[in-house]
Amino acid sequence: MKIVGAQAAWQATAPPRQAGAARQTGVACPAKAAAAAAFLVLLSAAFLVACVPAASIVPEPGVAARPLPEIQAAMRELAAEYPDHARVVTLGYGGSAAKPGGDPSLPVLALEIESPAAKARVASGAIPLRVQLVGVFHGDEQIGAEVALDVAATILGSAGTGSATEGLLDSAALTIVPVANPFGYEANTRVTESGTDLNRCFPWPFGWESGIAPERTYLGVPEALALAKDGEDKRYAMSVLLHSGSYCIAIPWDYIGTTEGGSSTYSLDEYRSRYAPAHSLFAANSAAYGSRVESEAGSGSFPAIEGYDWYYVGGSYADWLYGALGCPGYTVELDPLKSWTSRREDVGTAVIRRHRQALLELLATAGQGAQGRVSSAAGIGIPSRVEARPLAAGDRGLPAPLPYVAFGLTDTSGAFRITLPQGSWRLVATAIGTLGLDSATTTVGPASGAVDIVVDADGSSAIVSLLLP
Ligand SMILES: [Zn+2]
Repeated sequence: MKIVGAQAAWQATAPPRQAGAARQTGVACPAKAAAAAAFLVLLSAAFLVACVPAASIVPEPGVAARPLPEIQAAMRELAAEYPDHARVVTLGYGGSAAKPGGDPSLPVLALEIESPAAKARVASGAIPLRVQLVGVFHGDEQIGAEVALDVAATILGSAGTGSATEGLLDSAALTIVPVANPFGYEANTRVTESGTDLNRCFPWPFGWESGIAPERTYLGVPEALALAKDGEDKRYAMSVLLHSGSYCIAIPWDYIGTTEGGSSTYSLDEYRSRYAPAHSLFAANSAAYGSRVESEAGSGSFPAIEGYDWYYVGGSYADWLYGALGCPGYTVELDPLKSWTSRREDVGTAVIRRHRQALLELLATAGQGAQGRVSSAAGIGIPSRVEARPLAAGDRGLPAPLPYVAFGLTDTSGAFRITLPQGSWRLVATAIGTLGLDSATTTVGPASGAVDIVVDADGSSAIVSLLLP
């Protein structure tokens, strides 16, 4: 399935998400005919529930999602069941700006999974492969917590099965955050306690666009700061972000170098080539996800789309991950419903079952591209930024605005990963804190190293070492 075709199909059947919920259903909504488009953007969760497709499972009114303590207890039970593989850590706390450190009663908990085999691989010199799965950015999208817990339990339960899932368990370290917005989960509100949309508050743009000032930041949003610190510490190779309220998977970018409502200088095709060097991989992986969900569901279309082509979002976590850390993030909209129960088994399990295999297969694609280590001649890891430029195109100079460059940031051991599609690439490493690379025409600076690599057709990684003086 090509992403272009998927987009066309999506657009033919449904306009952007907020207005699309009703149209998608084929069910007449009383409010729809009279509502102006501007009003539709503001539609509430109640409206979404009222207009779900006849084929969807409608939650029992008044039955709430599991209380947050039950989600947290389930995480601790998994860690207790697999003490050699998993542990629960506190990334930070939810809360409001009045409690800048967060509210201790609202921990943002992560289940960190790393098997003894995965630890041994890293100990013997393999480049770490870390992936992240996060649910419930929006507190009224509670099903993400159950889906994340299910994936965690499935992966942990794969030990000794010889399955592909065990292969994932034995090659990657996973950080699973069922509830990123604990206040919103409990209150059944989209926003955090400070009234912040946790998927609109991350810093952007990232500097390669000209003339656009950064908008909105996560300062004062403790949930966002907790996620940001974790991302900066772990250097994830991939992140999967679980939402609900629609039914699709979206890939970078959620914005394309404009302010909200602004017009772009570039077409989407230009942005794909200039601003998403791994677009072809994102498209293929997301299309595979959609196909898997469709086959598990047995009906319906689960389109793979580009975030911006869906509707404009500034300050999303996915864009921040890719723009600031070089980590591709996939946004999965699990189900058209928000604010719905996971307590009733027939409601929760249908969505969980539909996404389980698709998520496992998507997570298993993490690490496509280049991996390596930046070190001194003495073998000491050097914290660096490693950029990849296509060799075939040569150095493109400095067009305005400067294109996005695929990159990875090393961890403290100098290890890095960059998601790249097939092709010949030049990797240039620049030690953090130096000015080795300040323009596209400077390939090797005073504290830089460069090496040419070829990424194979299957997207398997090329392993490179970059030496800095
Ligand atoms: Zn959401």
